[in-house]
Amino acid sequence: MFSLLAMGILGGMSTLSGAVAGALVVTALSEVTRRIEGAPWLESVGLPPLFGLTQIVLAVAILFVMYRRPDGLIAWREPTWRRPAPPTPLAPSEMIVENRIASKTLRIAAVSKSFDGVQALNAVSLEIRAGEALGLIGPNGSGKTTLVNIVSGVLGADIGTVALGDVALTTLPPHRVAAAGVARTFQNIRVFEHLSVYDNIRVAALVRDGDPDLATRRVLAEPDLDDVALTPAGSLAYGVRRRVEIARALAMNPVVLLLDEPTARMNEVETADLARRLKDLQRRQGLSLLVIEHDQSFVRSMCDRLVVLSQGSVIAEGAPEAIRRDPAVIEAYLGRRHTKHDDNRGVDK
Ligand code: ADP
Ligand code: MG
Repeated sequence: MFSLLAMGILGGMSTLSGAVAGALVVTALSEVTRRIEGAPWLESVGLPPLFGLTQIVLAVAILFVMYRRPDGLIAWREPTWRRPAPPTPLAPSEMIVENRIASKTLRIAAVSKSFDGVQALNAVSLEIRAGEALGLIGPNGSGKTTLVNIVSGVLGADIGTVALGDVALTTLPPHRVAAAGVARTFQNIRVFEHLSVYDNIRVAALVRDGDPDLATRRVLAEPDLDDVALTPAGSLAYGVRRRVEIARALAMNPVVLLLDEPTARMNEVETADLARRLKDLQRRQGLSLLVIEHDQSFVRSMCDRLVVLSQGSVIAEGAPEAIRRDPAVIEAYLGRRHTKHDDNRGVDK
């Protein structure tokens, strides 16, 4: 049992070559130490027979590998002899994306949620109308991420309902919500770091009907990610990783896309670029967007309408310009200006 564990830890548990390397290393070490243990010259130099040397050597090897290469000797870059061919460019006839022309409104009705006595959402109702870009703003801790978690099925609401068109989403698990047409990204990016960009997107394309590889290539062509298609997503720069996450969401051909602070930690150029791409998608595919953002100019340039949350309640709703002058909104932001940012609390961001 100990040897088997040692093989996994030493070689690396997430690759086939890791398993092979682990087995070879452990077998070789065991064999060598076993010979030393039983060697006749031990007695001639006055040492008693050694017991447990194998275990000691393996234990030291495990400690060393955990210190230097925590994921194992062959962590996740599986050596390949034949590199897979990069995805081929699409023929013009393959570029045509089905248009799910948003005829569906996402309705959130009287949703409440509390965590151990903290009322994160308090009877929140709002609509993302077909084809619109709705901005959701509010101070830190006002419940924006919690709302996205509830709509996407990651969290259950205490009470209230969520529906897309006439499909109730309230009790569906996340993968069913996604299949129903609601895709999302996470405040703290969540890509499969060990998978290539191509595979990250393909995973999402499996959710829908049709050829997943065709869907993947279509999405890759879209935000020019094809250059990095075979790169492990974990090794990409932040801005690119965010685009992979968005591309993965789009591969499901969603009706509604929920974006939780998509431009956080992006620079100005990346932000403007993202705004342009999203606007374009909204126009061409009739995609509805819910955008959570702190960057006021981004929200104002992107969104047709804004909803403002404060301490779990909707305090204002309307055109971006009107919201900017709304006294209740100004109060909510000024009143919280000096509180500490609590962006990274909670588990499901
Ligand atoms: P926002 O995204 O607007 O910054 P959140 O939805 O993350 O706000 O948080 C709303 C409130 O709910 C905060 O007080 C936060 O601490 C709390 N909260 C969020 N998620 C959890 C959780 N998983 N467990 C406990 N409390 C949480
Ligand atoms: Mg948040």
